[in-house]
Amino acid sequence: MNTKTSEPVQQPQQESLSAPNLSRRRFFRTAALSVAGGGAALAAGCEYKSQLFLLGSAPTEAKKQNPEWQEAQVRSYRPLGRTGMQMSDISFGCAGLDNVAVVKRALERGVTYFDTSPDYSRAGSEHTLGESIKGHPRDKLFIVSKFCTPDGHLSNDTPVKDVVAAVEASLQRLDTDYLDLAHIHACDSLDRLMNPNIHEACDRLKEQGKLRFLGVSSHTPHLETVMRHAVDSGRFDVIMVAYNFKNCKWVLSNQNVSGLVVSINSLTQIDEYLHASGQPLQQADVDLLEKYDRLVANDYCRPGCGACLSSCPYEVPINDVLRYAMYYENYSQQRVGMEAYARIPAAHNASQCVDCKAPCQQACPFEIPIKEKMLRADQLLRFV
Ligand code: SF4
Ligand code: SF4
Repeated sequence: MNTKTSEPVQQPQQESLSAPNLSRRRFFRTAALSVAGGGAALAAGCEYKSQLFLLGSAPTEAKKQNPEWQEAQVRSYRPLGRTGMQMSDISFGCAGLDNVAVVKRALERGVTYFDTSPDYSRAGSEHTLGESIKGHPRDKLFIVSKFCTPDGHLSNDTPVKDVVAAVEASLQRLDTDYLDLAHIHACDSLDRLMNPNIHEACDRLKEQGKLRFLGVSSHTPHLETVMRHAVDSGRFDVIMVAYNFKNCKWVLSNQNVSGLVVSINSLTQIDEYLHASGQPLQQADVDLLEKYDRLVANDYCRPGCGACLSSCPYEVPINDVLRYAMYYENYSQQRVGMEAYARIPAAHNASQCVDCKAPCQQACPFEIPIKEKMLRADQLLRFV
């Protein structure tokens, strides 16, 4: 973080991001958001990282470690949603995790919140996290996973017993008796959000002491609708929202947000990322972010947008494909991106773009060269 200017930035107005009714306002004041993402979510904390992310094909850590980052610790813990728990403001996203030592280092430095999923590296992430936390007091940790299997998301008609079994399989891999939180993951519709089988399974798991809290995560075009309904339903304790690069400014300076969940895969990232913990946003950071924002304006697919989707004759999930390519190129999560892409049927993947006249491009308000990026994504993400 650039600390040359010490003038703190005024807090953004939270009300503009919260819902108009009182219960939502109350939720956003007293409950909190946590934030999904990788490099983008941490952009304000890491000068090099931000720059590299924006320029594309970026490594996920600085080329040169700043001496100031050494031995960085978590310096701030914040209330997490309606759970009554505190989370480290910089928390650990486990997508692509395969190194026990990285988790152990994070624990030493004060990270308490770990977010994994059965479909991260075909359960490899859960296995590694389980191995890493052995011997650490369980009540000092907040372990989060998803209603999911190593093969991907559970379909909406999955029977209750299979949803329960999926969570129990996560518990086995994590070698723990309970999850602190399970998310309905990448939720893109109200049908999914309020799926009765998932909710019944959740209630049964809670009764059995295998699950403490329910959450929802989303980065889809229906994000706002899904999240507003989640808050109004009263069923959810935590919501996890993908923020785009620019919103990072708001995230890091808004005390009503619990924290950032950032994908961490290496020891050096821990120094670099935790340096951002507890630091106020400075005017210099804002200036830097705005500069990066201008640079990336025509290249970065905005989370929660989806304006181009209905224009595609092949119903290609353009936003998802571009996000998977971002996992590959910007988060160093090649396998995560490729596995996710492989789950899109060939009739709807980016191979359809080859002979297409690309009506999608006129539909994008940010003038992103979608066809060009989709063809590149198809090359990057295919298993050969
Ligand atoms: S270029 Fe690809 S994404 Fe765009 S409309 Fe054609 S098939 Fe769909
Ligand atoms: S490509 Fe453009 S229109 Fe399509 S989802 Fe991304 S930002 Fe929105």
